[in-house]
Order: sequence, then C-alpha cells, then structure tokens
Amino acid sequence: MRVKVDPLVCQGHGVCHIAVEDLYGIRDSDGRATVLLDPVPEELRAAARKSVGACPEQAITIVEDEAASPAGATTSTLALLANSRSLP
Ligand code: SF4
Repeated sequence: MRVKVDPLVCQGHGVCHIAVEDLYGIRDSDGRATVLLDPVPEELRAAARKSVGACPEQAITIVEDEAASPAGATTSTLALLANSRSLP
C-alpha cells in the first residue's frame, strides 16, 4: 500500500500529520504535506486509511498493492467497484 498526497490540492492544514505523525510530514518550503514512508508499513495501514477521510481537501489517495487489488486501483476505484456489484 502506498499513500499519495496531491500537492495541487493540499492546503497544508496538517490534519494528516497530526493524525499519523510517522507517515506524514509538513514541508518547510511550502507548508504542504509529504509522505514519509513509501510503502506504508503494515502497522500504519489502518491509520493511513482513516487519514484519507480526515483530510478536509480530499488530497490523500491510497494505492493498494497489486496483489491486494486490481492494478493501479485506488480507494475511490474500489468503492465504485463495490457499489456497482451491489446494484441489481
Ligand atoms: S490534511 Fe490534507 S490538505 Fe491538510 S496537510 Fe494533510 S494532505 Fe494536505
């Protein structure tokens, strides 16, 4: 699993850094978030998933490992797949 922060969307609130200090840093140069651990270690994966919803700008995306999900699928993609399968 990997976490990506879109630098064009991030506004530097720092909520992600407060939520998962070991995973997100805040750059001195522009005040935006940066991912410190890539890939995300097993022990931080649950917290990483929660941090997606904590970001007020929706700047964080989870990219699952290929073995765990379809190639290149993001959490948004997986949610769409799950929803489409529940339709009649
Ligand atoms: S919470 Fe979102 S907008 Fe705020 S610093 Fe983290 S990634 Fe950027």
